[in-house]
Amino acid sequence: MKPLIVKLGGSVVTDKRKPFLVKRKDLKRLAGELKAAKGPLIVVHGGGSFGHPLALKYKIADGYTGKNQLMGMSLTHRAMILLNSYVVEALQNADIPAIGVQPSSSTVLINGRIKSMDIGPIRMMLALGLVPVLYGDVVSDVKKGVKILSGDQIVSYLARRLGASKVIVGVDVDGVYADDPKGNKKSEILKKITPDDARLVASLGAAGTQDVTGGMRNKVLELLDLARLGIEAEIVNASKPNVLRGAIRGKNVLGTKVCGGS
Ligand code: ADP
Repeated sequence: MKPLIVKLGGSVVTDKRKPFLVKRKDLKRLAGELKAAKGPLIVVHGGGSFGHPLALKYKIADGYTGKNQLMGMSLTHRAMILLNSYVVEALQNADIPAIGVQPSSSTVLINGRIKSMDIGPIRMMLALGLVPVLYGDVVSDVKKGVKILSGDQIVSYLARRLGASKVIVGVDVDGVYADDPKGNKKSEILKKITPDDARLVASLGAAGTQDVTGGMRNKVLELLDLARLGIEAEIVNASKPNVLRGAIRGKNVLGTKVCGGS
């Protein structure tokens, strides 16, 4: 059976303005909503205020430039393991058999893109009924020494390799807008984005300054790669109660569909 892949954005599970602040109440609610998934499920979460500020401080997104970054890599990685353990704990409390999976242990990048990832264990976990929980991580890179692998890239890679039934990306806004809705309140939501909308996507804004992996534009670009393969994705507001649950159940919730055209 094909898995459903749900991304919980860093902006959803943490308060991006406050270092190391996990949104426990939201996590508890989201874990409850994830129970609506009836088949195999993979959860991927972002870095939010755990991973991004450290990655930024030590310039890890630039690749390896010197020994002074090593402790930064170590700290960033541990911050993400900590956040991952909070997510896994919330799922466990909702009776979901979640299991944290470290991308850095099984993945090699080339210029920031996944060159190889051993997904054998993930396949086996899914077959048993476990719910793998992955996250954006500090990962070895054959060209750059090390890079940040975004949760969004993990989502699109796994969706492609495993043939996901659907991808749902939860963020803290109602979907993709022509312009960042936090800066421009009059911006209108885009109900659907297809591979034909390349120019529009190029004009989308990135996320806040703390985000080292490219924000909304990169998210949409990753999902367009899937749309070209016929895998549909939906970007929805997971910070609003019941939206994620509705999307999992296939209801027509407010959000942006990234799909293969008319
Ligand atoms: P996450 O870390 O949760 O995965 P990001 O912070 O990378 O998500 O991206 C979500 C953020 O992108 C939103 O909080 C929003 O402010 C910002 N953003 C920038 N441009 C847009 C846009 N055109 N439409 C929607 N959101 C946008």
